[in-house]
Amino acid sequence: MNSPFVTVSGVAYRWPIRPVVVVCIDGGDPAYIERGLRDGIIPNIARFMREGFSAIAEGVVPSFTCPNNISLITGAPPSVHGISGNYYLDIATGEAVVMTGPELLRGRTILAEFAAAGAKVVSITAKDKLRQQLGKDLDLTRGNISFSSEKADRCTLRENGIENVLERVGMPLPDMYSMELSLFVLEAGIRLLESDRPDLMFLSLTDYIQHKHVPGDPVADDFYRRIDEKFGRLAGLGAVVALTADHGMNDKSTPDGKPNVIYLQDILDREFGAGDTRVICPITDAFVKHHGALGGFVRVWCLGGKATPAAIIDRIAHLPGIAAALDRETVCQLYDLPADREGDVAVIGETDAGIGAAAAEHDLSSLGDARLRSHGGAAEARVPFILSHPLREEYRQRAADAPLKSYRIFDYAINGVEVGP
Ligand code: ZN
Ligand code: ZN
Repeated sequence: MNSPFVTVSGVAYRWPIRPVVVVCIDGGDPAYIERGLRDGIIPNIARFMREGFSAIAEGVVPSFTCPNNISLITGAPPSVHGISGNYYLDIATGEAVVMTGPELLRGRTILAEFAAAGAKVVSITAKDKLRQQLGKDLDLTRGNISFSSEKADRCTLRENGIENVLERVGMPLPDMYSMELSLFVLEAGIRLLESDRPDLMFLSLTDYIQHKHVPGDPVADDFYRRIDEKFGRLAGLGAVVALTADHGMNDKSTPDGKPNVIYLQDILDREFGAGDTRVICPITDAFVKHHGALGGFVRVWCLGGKATPAAIIDRIAHLPGIAAALDRETVCQLYDLPADREGDVAVIGETDAGIGAAAAEHDLSSLGDARLRSHGGAAEARVPFILSHPLREEYRQRAADAPLKSYRIFDYAINGVEVGP
């Protein structure tokens, strides 16, 4: 017997009448949709916006992949779920700790709670780094599925709840640096919707294309045309389709095309001495070809005793390219972040500037001759929030009355839409 409601982080979710598919378009800045609408290349998204619901929502700051994906699947801010970047500094050990371990995710996810209540749940991500957190507490022995397109060739029933994924999807294993890595996620979602008709699906793409290609560029257009076609097929199979992004994307280059970067560790070392402070770039992951580990938000820890948060803020807050330098308490309050994983100072870049650690730590050769496009700051926290179905009056009102948080997308897609059987 299905439970009538599932409650996660204080939000009661009704039982979905038809499949609900939430797609996180990684790096899906609203500018791509605006441009695509103008050029007429995204007819399905255009229809959702016309017949369903569309708004710009606020994502989580720092505007990185992990904190936002986890907010989407928990319906809660990072102060609740604990994931506030890809990396943080464990001051007990002095080690930078990657934040993708499921043990670091606090509380329960919407996916796991629905699965525990008897729903059939599917989670597919492009990069494997997210898979374990997205699949946290998901019982994969009962028809639930969690895998990444990165490792789609290695899926087992025990680890992923599915096998023979390449055959089932009908695509070869995609390259890490390709649009196919994202297209694979969507195609797999379509195939599973056809064959298994899950109640809830979370499909999370990767932002390689958006890091490399501006809105209107032929490659970006090709990507948006192809994902739009897949959104149309998902809706055509009877699902409620909800589209959002983990973050946007901005150009962070000088007019001559060089990365416009503030190397904060070098500045702090000159001021306070080497080793006194430690700058951590929470955008860092194993795939730096996208961005050279340069984003719009870094954290500084005071380690040696010379630098204090106030002295750091005083030294850097007015530098060109820096939008804000905030102490721990202020940034946690402003952006709903977990204090125990926050640095002593959080530094946020201007729209057109990236912030790095020491220049020597960033390998910009991997960027090739592409302009630096990246994210992390408040400027990239505006994201699309699009539903294939119209909202009930109560939810329309709610969206109009207060800032819409992107992490409410499951709430809106499950509870907010008007759907018949
Ligand atoms: Zn991302
Ligand atoms: Zn990115």
